[in-house]
Amino acid sequence: MNCYICDIKLTKDNETEEHILLNSIGGKLKSKKLMCKDCNSRFGSDIDHQLSKQLNPIANLLDIKRDRGEPQNIKGKYRDREVIIEPGGKIKWARPYIEKGEKVIHIEASSVGEATKVLKGLQRSYPEMDIEKALHNHKKGKKYLESVTIGLTFGGIDIKRAICKMAVNYFVDKGGDPSVIKHLLPFIESKENCDSIKYFYPRREVFYKEAEEILHSIVLIGNAKTKCLFVYVELFNEFKFVVTLSNDYDGMELYESYHYNLVTNEVVIYDAPLTISPRELKQYCSDDIDESKFRERMKLLFQRIDKVTVSRRIHTITQNAMDEMVAKFPPDKYPVFTTEMISFLSQKVAQEFVLSFQNRFFKDGKDKDEEC
Ligand SMILES: [Zn+2]
Repeated sequence: MNCYICDIKLTKDNETEEHILLNSIGGKLKSKKLMCKDCNSRFGSDIDHQLSKQLNPIANLLDIKRDRGEPQNIKGKYRDREVIIEPGGKIKWARPYIEKGEKVIHIEASSVGEATKVLKGLQRSYPEMDIEKALHNHKKGKKYLESVTIGLTFGGIDIKRAICKMAVNYFVDKGGDPSVIKHLLPFIESKENCDSIKYFYPRREVFYKEAEEILHSIVLIGNAKTKCLFVYVELFNEFKFVVTLSNDYDGMELYESYHYNLVTNEVVIYDAPLTISPRELKQYCSDDIDESKFRERMKLLFQRIDKVTVSRRIHTITQNAMDEMVAKFPPDKYPVFTTEMISFLSQKVAQEFVLSFQNRFFKDGKDKDEEC
């Protein structure tokens, strides 16, 4: 087996594992049959970084698990205040909030350490201030925000290059002849233009998904009758692309697919194959992002993310309450459930439940509700 970029023979010494779907966005699909170490280190690592950066807000909200490290924190806005969202949705103030009254200074900070820093800064103007006392009197609390706005930028030539690389990697991994995709390599390596990568806006959903399913999908289709050889890529359900590898395909019929559920971390198998006709390929492919359709898709995606976050929150609340109950009523001393235990458990669950979801009872959470 040879490296499909430089054609050197792949050996134990120069082999390397390449993620076909980026690990930073939750991709687990990888292969050792693609390229040598040297090529891997220079071939498109900049574009992988770009794709990972643009999709980081989604990876963050879904708390995507990576082989190494965690998704980056993202910035958001709550009313006129900047917030930082940690992976999994926990929010903290970007900076401490200070409100100076006539006699009282009100400080809100995300940690005692941060509050101490603010107090030390204020002491320069108010030397009589007692930092120890102020810290001693601090109130710890949780605030549940009804709606936080985050920004998401997507698109550009680097994104198309990264998608093209995924498609090419998948094709070669599935045993495809590297000479078929040679013409796409200059595009992936440099910024040379290429019109083989399109955004895809089909009228109907390509793969059916349950309400809480968020998938990455990659499908390779080759059909000698239509002469089409292409790869369909779908990231987080809603970022859809078609990469045409050849318009002159005359090999055997090809169908290879891979779907990965990012919520349950499981590979999903679809019985029915994807069918996209040449007419649909022409009609629904576009060189540019269609902004109104893109917005519509993001709305759908965020609604799904919200459902996932709520389910996870309910799970955490129940789990925490159970843990607290077991700590208070150890099983060796309390072998059966008592009324006292049930009451303790239900009170803990109800308390956290109301705190977490009270905003939803009064108004629709537009983006997300989280703790701060
Ligand atoms: Zn190589």
